[in-house]
Amino acid sequence: MWYIDKAYIGGKFVAVSGSKEIESINPANEKVIGRVRLADRNDARRAIIAASQAQNRLRETSRKERVEMLMALKSAVLRRTADLQQATIEEYGGPLSRSRWVSQYASQCFSDAADTLQSYPFTKKIGAATVVMEPVGVSALIAPWNSVTGSVCSKLAFSLAAGCASVIKPSELGAMQTQVLAEALHEAGLPDGVFNILLGNGDDVGDEICRHPLIARISFTGSTATGKNIARTATETLKRVTLGLTGKSASILLDDADLDVAIPLAINAAFLNNGQACVAGSRLLVPESLLEDVITRVRLHVSMLKTGLPDDPATEIGPLANRSQYDRIQRYIRLGIEQGAEIIVGGEGRPDGLEKGFFVRPTVFAKVENQMDIAREEIFGPVLSIISYSDRDDAIRIANDSIYGLQAYVFTSNTERALHISRHLQAGSVLNNRIIPELLAPFGGVKQSGIGREFGIFGLESFLEAKSIVKG
Ligand code: NAD
Repeated sequence: MWYIDKAYIGGKFVAVSGSKEIESINPANEKVIGRVRLADRNDARRAIIAASQAQNRLRETSRKERVEMLMALKSAVLRRTADLQQATIEEYGGPLSRSRWVSQYASQCFSDAADTLQSYPFTKKIGAATVVMEPVGVSALIAPWNSVTGSVCSKLAFSLAAGCASVIKPSELGAMQTQVLAEALHEAGLPDGVFNILLGNGDDVGDEICRHPLIARISFTGSTATGKNIARTATETLKRVTLGLTGKSASILLDDADLDVAIPLAINAAFLNNGQACVAGSRLLVPESLLEDVITRVRLHVSMLKTGLPDDPATEIGPLANRSQYDRIQRYIRLGIEQGAEIIVGGEGRPDGLEKGFFVRPTVFAKVENQMDIAREEIFGPVLSIISYSDRDDAIRIANDSIYGLQAYVFTSNTERALHISRHLQAGSVLNNRIIPELLAPFGGVKQSGIGREFGIFGLESFLEAKSIVKG
């Protein structure tokens, strides 16, 4: 049983002044595994001051120095890969393969940022002007519970590459993952205050850092509701804000797709990260002519998926992260039934043999209308809705009939059709016949899935501001 009562501020682990404590529960067996004492507004202010003191020196560092810092962070995180993996399993319920990927991705973020930084032109000539790209200033990096390590490392990597010191607030529900990560990052030996990490509630620590005048920039990943709140708060001091928000992605299956390949990929897209993924392809759009065949295949495939303990290498779907997630998924399954959709596999309750833990049955609905709540709202669990369409334009119309637009998937053997549909989809990214993204390409949402882009050059530039110096 662990106990965390420190935040990482000014290069040291220091006792927090907050007094509120919360428990951490292993989602696979519902046992309490640790307690965390949350930081409060005072701690947030200390972290902001530490970051702003580091900012003055950081903005003067050379490209080479920052590449060295990034590579030191990469090595430090790599050394703790096994611990990060273990924390993701124990605290979050991430299946082994996913947890392994998450911990490796964490270190890769730093080399991706270093590579981007190596060749980035910080100075450009535009007419009589020399345009200099400068760090925007102290940045707040706010991360959700479903991707603590990945979100934090990616945001930290690109803010540091740009020369911005940061105050990092991961979700308080990811305390153990945050602690292991903070210890790893500390070992890189960066100057004090360049990054600071604290765990606290959103309406307390989160609000303080979104409000504080010394914070110049907010990079937020989380729900659309919180994102709107943050944007409103940030307006007061006109902070630069990017928001990576909720998704309700569509996977479009065309009638020429190779179903043996496309169906497993589409199911994977839907149930990725136990279905707790912003990019989950939770609406599968199927041509009417293939509907029966697809339903048969999906039912067979999903009924064979192994739901089980996250540390079992055979497990494909682990428990949901917490009880409220479990309850939420049950509620949506009931809602789907009440609104007339038909369950073809799964349903309410726990999978057979798993009486403890926040396990749900991977569930697929057919006969779903795009107006139903299960097709409109982000469920954030392993629940897939199959929706039929009449022709290509109908598929595009249904996919775009959402307030969200994060990522979409198209499965077809025809490159031109893939391109046509991709160009007409309202989404920040579209993946054709694959579910693995390109990690240096811009990532973010349109409509209410967000504002701004992360990763690669776009991620770096989100922490920079252009200054024009014009000679007379
Ligand atoms: P959330 O919005 O509840 O919380 C996200 C973070 O914001 C947490 O650290 C939380 O403590 C903090 N927060 C809450 N209120 C705040 C406030 N008023 N001021 C400042 N910070 C505040 O989201 P969540 O439940 O942790 O994460 C799940 C959501 O995140 C889903 O909707 C998912 O789609 C989305 N998400 C989006 C992406 C993306 O890149 N688009 C990636 C992962 C998750």
